[in-house]
Amino acid sequence: MAVPHVLIFPLPLQGPVNCMLKLAELLCLHQEIHITFINTEYIHQRLMNYTDVVVRFAKYPNFKFVTVPDGLPEDNPRIGDQIRKIIEGVEKVSSPLFKEMVMTTNSAPTCLIVDGIFTFALPIAKEAKIPLLYFDTISPCSLWTYLALPKLIEDGEIPFKGNDLDVLVNGMPGMEGVMRRRDLPSFCRTPDVDIPIIKLVIKEGKHIVQAQGLIFNTFEALEGPILSQFRALCPNIYAIGPLHTQMKAKLSSQRLPNTPTSNSIWKEDMSCIDWLDKQPNKSVLFVSIGSLATMSKAQFFEFWYGLVNSNTRFLWVQRPGSIIGLEDDNNNVPMELVESTKERGCIISWAPQEEVLAHPSIGAFLTHTGWNSTLESIVEGVPMICWPYFVDQQVNSRYIGEVWKLGLDMKDVCDRITIERMVREVMDVKKIEFLERAKYMSDLAIASVGEGGSSYQDLDRLIEDIRLMRI
Ligand code: UDP
Repeated sequence: MAVPHVLIFPLPLQGPVNCMLKLAELLCLHQEIHITFINTEYIHQRLMNYTDVVVRFAKYPNFKFVTVPDGLPEDNPRIGDQIRKIIEGVEKVSSPLFKEMVMTTNSAPTCLIVDGIFTFALPIAKEAKIPLLYFDTISPCSLWTYLALPKLIEDGEIPFKGNDLDVLVNGMPGMEGVMRRRDLPSFCRTPDVDIPIIKLVIKEGKHIVQAQGLIFNTFEALEGPILSQFRALCPNIYAIGPLHTQMKAKLSSQRLPNTPTSNSIWKEDMSCIDWLDKQPNKSVLFVSIGSLATMSKAQFFEFWYGLVNSNTRFLWVQRPGSIIGLEDDNNNVPMELVESTKERGCIISWAPQEEVLAHPSIGAFLTHTGWNSTLESIVEGVPMICWPYFVDQQVNSRYIGEVWKLGLDMKDVCDRITIERMVREVMDVKKIEFLERAKYMSDLAIASVGEGGSSYQDLDRLIEDIRLMRI
């Protein structure tokens, strides 16, 4: 009987890599399961520069990293609209190497866990007769809209007829009365559906349901109705999130060191924790648009004025390169912004985000609603103001605002008056209401990974299934 050996291949971006590393570490705790984790050279180098990931995983003798090229020149930006290029690079350059690893006869993998967008993995897994589990690290609710695309196109819902983005969209079971055109993934706002990104996600939807199972970073109490819809297409669903909380719970239950860890591909500025320590309880708005989103210089100043005019304290992550065109006149910031920021703001280039959100001084999160950020905020009971940037984020922000009632959705608006109004509403006028609701969801999230909880059980089942796959 072969040793259970899982080959893990994440999409080489901050969010998916972070998620898959957490899953890998959870699997490592079961010493008989061997794990090979594929990183692109670019991601691996950044992880080595800014984290202790290599040392951290070295304590697991059953784990190893391997690296592959991503096919892009070293200096090619890997943010914003470049995602498609990254996926194409992986498909062209990394996937043949992935295939070699799958087909090897020397300690061959017994299970493949790869990102849902890697459609190339399905024929490889079939040829090698090795079970494939797709792990889509975006939210099931947004993935569900991808699966609905062929029907929406057939029904004439997409491309939109006319310019009204507030029209409700039918044809997505389980989402009736919730989704407006503006809440669909950003690429649906197109006059022509015959574009690469739409073809790509339709292909993804057709492939993922053919895998032996689907892994999701979510929990039943949050997305139960959508998970039921998925089960009708692919019965074997493992909803094991929030993964970072599951990880912490498992380490504590095994009395292993549970200090904060980082899988960041930028250098975390820890000085913000000292700054937060000096602020009153629940008084600070955390502002971050994640690892890929960008904003224009005009939007940047609307944000800044909105924050300053709201009179709230704020901790703002300005990731290098995230404000387009700012480098040209960095010194032209109005004095009133500089002065107010000195009084009650803190600006950094990258945060230890999980620690920041867990800090008692944080009162709310102005976020681009990437799925990791959303879950991290939910776990800490932090209400959100949503400014979605692209793809799945438009769907997440609708669910946060309308379905889960965990914050306000600022989608498609970026003016200082709206920002000021929403910040005041979440940090002041409706503060108690939002905090209570966020606490309720946080309790459910934490319960899901506790002994007997839904995510706890699904992880146990996943591990058991991986053990059985070696036969
Ligand atoms: N993150 C971080 N520090 C920051 C901003 C983001 O550590 O200053 C982490 C955050 O905790 C999350 C990830 O980067 O785990 C971003 O993933 P998400 O899915 O939210 O958004 P994406 O970056 O993929 O758009």
